[in-house]
Amino acid sequence: MELGTRTMAVHAGRNDLARLGVHAPPLDLSSTYPLLDHEQGGLDLGTFADGAATAGNPVYSRLHNPTVARFENALAELEGTDEAVAYASGMAAITAVIMASARAHVIALRPIYGGTDHLLGCGLLSPEVTYINGIEQLAGALRPDTGLILLETPANPCLDMIDIAEVVRIAGEVPVAVDNTFATPILQNPAKHGAAYVIHSATKYLSGHGDVLGGVVACSAELAGPLRQIRILTGSVLHPLAGYLLHRGLPTLPLRVLAAQHNAGILAERLATHPAVAAVHYPGLPGADAYGLLGSQLSGAGSIISFETYSDPIPVIEKLNLITPAVSLGSVDTLIQHPASLTHRLVPEQARRESGISPLLLRLAVGIEDANDLWADLDTALNLVLAA
Ligand SMILES: *Cc1c(COP(=O)(O)O)cnc(C)c1O
Repeated sequence: MELGTRTMAVHAGRNDLARLGVHAPPLDLSSTYPLLDHEQGGLDLGTFADGAATAGNPVYSRLHNPTVARFENALAELEGTDEAVAYASGMAAITAVIMASARAHVIALRPIYGGTDHLLGCGLLSPEVTYINGIEQLAGALRPDTGLILLETPANPCLDMIDIAEVVRIAGEVPVAVDNTFATPILQNPAKHGAAYVIHSATKYLSGHGDVLGGVVACSAELAGPLRQIRILTGSVLHPLAGYLLHRGLPTLPLRVLAAQHNAGILAERLATHPAVAAVHYPGLPGADAYGLLGSQLSGAGSIISFETYSDPIPVIEKLNLITPAVSLGSVDTLIQHPASLTHRLVPEQARRESGISPLLLRLAVGIEDANDLWADLDTALNLVLAA
C-alpha cells in the first residue's frame, strides 16, 4: 500500500534509524573516509566515478555523503522517482541538468526563473537556446538536436500554468525538465506526468526556514548517474549540514505548504477587491486556470501571489512592517519583492514584457503567520499609497 504524503514526509530516509539505535539521523561532516583496504577504496572511487549512488566506502565527501544521501532518498520518495541528486543550490542543479543534455539545443518555456533565463542566454554553458512563450510554439521549435525542454509550472513570477503531460507528448523522445520549486512535491509530482527531471531550489519551501541554500533533481536511476558524475566533476555538492537541515524540514513540509496556501487564498481574494490593486495573479482565483490543471496536475494553488498596482509599487513595499522586503520564497515568514528590478532584472526587457512582468508587478511569497495580521499589514500599506 502506498503511504500517504504526510507519513512519507515524516518517515522517508529514516527507515534504518531504529536499527542503528538512534532517533535522529546522524550528521556526517567527514570530508574524507579512512580506507583500511586501499585496493577496495580504489574500486569504490571508480564506482562513484561511474555515477553510482553508493559504494562500500564514501571515500571522499565530494563523491558521496551519507547525510545528503538521506535527504536525496526522502525527496525521491516524495516525488515518486527512483533517485534524486542534491546540489549546492538550485542554480547548480539546473546547471547540471543543462550540462547533462550534452550541450545540445535547449528549448525554454518563458517565463522561467530569472537566473535560469540568464544562465541559458548568457552563453556560459553554450547550448543553443530557443525561448518560447507558450506550449503552442513547442512543436515548431523542436529540432533533431534538441536535448532538453525546460519549463516551470506554476511559473515565476506570474504563476502561469503549463500542462506537463501535453509538453511531454509533444516532446516525444526529448527529456522534459520541470522546475517544481513553486509547487513542491506536496502539490505536484511532475514525474507522474512524464517529466524526466524534476528540479527544486531546495532553498525555498523544502528548507522552509530561510537558512539553507540547496538544490535537488529527482529523476530515474538512468538519468541520475550522469548528474552525479557532473556533481563530482564540478564540485557542486550540497554541504552535509544543509542536507541534514533539508531532511529535518521535510516532515513539516506538508503542514507548512498547506498553512501558507490557506493564507494565500485569503490574501488573494482580498487583494482582488482592493482599490489600489489593478490585477492579481493566483492559480486559485476565477479565470486563472485556463487549462483546468488545478485539482488534477496541481492539487492546490500554493502560496505565491503576484499583483499589480496602478502606480509605482515600491512605496507599498516601503510601508510594510510585518512583511519582509526580500527576494526568495517558501519560508515560514512572508516576503515581498519587485520582480522587474530584482529576480527578473537580468531578463531582457522585451522578454520581461512578453512574460507579463510589468514594472507595476509585486510578488508576495506568503508564509504561515496569521492571515489577518498579514492582511492588516498589506491593507495599511496599500491605503497609505492610495491616500498619498
Ligand atoms: C530560487 C529559484 C531558483 C534558483 O535556486 P537557488 O537555490 O537560489 O540557486 C530556481 N528556480 C526557481 C523557481 C526559484 O525560485
